[in-house]
Amino acid sequence: AKETGKARCVVYSPSESEPPEHDISLEAAMFQAVREGEFLLFYQPIVDARTREIQGFETLMRWKHPTLGMVPPARFIPIAETNGLINLLGAWALKAACVQLKQFEEVAKRPLYISVNISPRQFRNDKFLDVLDDAIAFSGLQGEQLVLEITEGTLMVDPVHAESILSKMAERKARIAIDDFGTGYSSLAYLKRFPISVLKIDRTFIRDLPTSEKDAAICNAVLDLAKHLDLSVVAEGVETEDQLAYLQQRGCQYIQGYLTGKPMAANIAMAALRESMHL
Ligand code: C2E
Ligand code: CA
Ligand code: CA
Ligand code: CA
Repeated sequence: AKETGKARCVVYSPSESEPPEHDISLEAAMFQAVREGEFLLFYQPIVDARTREIQGFETLMRWKHPTLGMVPPARFIPIAETNGLINLLGAWALKAACVQLKQFEEVAKRPLYISVNISPRQFRNDKFLDVLDDAIAFSGLQGEQLVLEITEGTLMVDPVHAESILSKMAERKARIAIDDFGTGYSSLAYLKRFPISVLKIDRTFIRDLPTSEKDAAICNAVLDLAKHLDLSVVAEGVETEDQLAYLQQRGCQYIQGYLTGKPMAANIAMAALRESMHL
């Protein structure tokens, strides 16, 4: 226990620009955190742009460190991706999220879906399909209630392998969403090649709506593209009524952002579902 305290002290460096050795301490703390059960899952509502009814939730991982407080995923996911811990964390998140969805549905008394981020390394892992099957079987949800969020980059590392994994996901009826759509360095050809169901417009294209003509043009183009390819679109990071109004008017079906719900603990999400039933 003494050693634990020390490790945490090393981690607790207040400097803004982190020297490399800081990340090593953070990495050590992560293994400890897994053993201590410090990782948890938050859920952010994905809502119908028109009715604002909750359709599903994106699962977002949190690390609640005893002294550091909440460590943002932008800090710890890249480390987990480097050292492989993401496979363990990601498998846990997928299964726990699927189980959680069942509970959400019991409260809502209607079908919902759960969206889970899959990192590049997790996607490439040999065991990934087993992990997926285990999560589906254990939770008892239908494959179509599961959306797996991957980035363009994940597909492009090894497109041949990606194609085979995606077709196996499709056999299980799990849907694929392209996360941060438009921010990667790939051609649109992959939309033709891979069985994709959802495009998530990155927050950077939403932020300056509706005033930025360029962002408006990009959003309109993505919405058009999605319509013609028969894909769903989720606009991410919607924070204002003006942004929502613009997107809705342009035919964007789903939105996700602080305006309609921040990432929240499961019990808060259930309260939100209960509340929405009485509206
Ligand atoms: P992401 O997948 O693009 O997730 C959306 C991020 O936008 C989340 O940040 C969310 O809290 C934030 N967000 C949502 N609505 C708004 C809004 O209206 N305004 C603003 N400013 N932000 C909003 P978060 O939770 O910090 O996660 C950051 C990234 O970490 C995620 O980006 C994802 O790439 C990664 N991540 C989080 N959880 C997991 C996980 O379980 N597995 C993997 N592989 N990656 C994860
Ligand atoms: Ca995501
Ligand atoms: Ca995203
Ligand atoms: Ca992102």
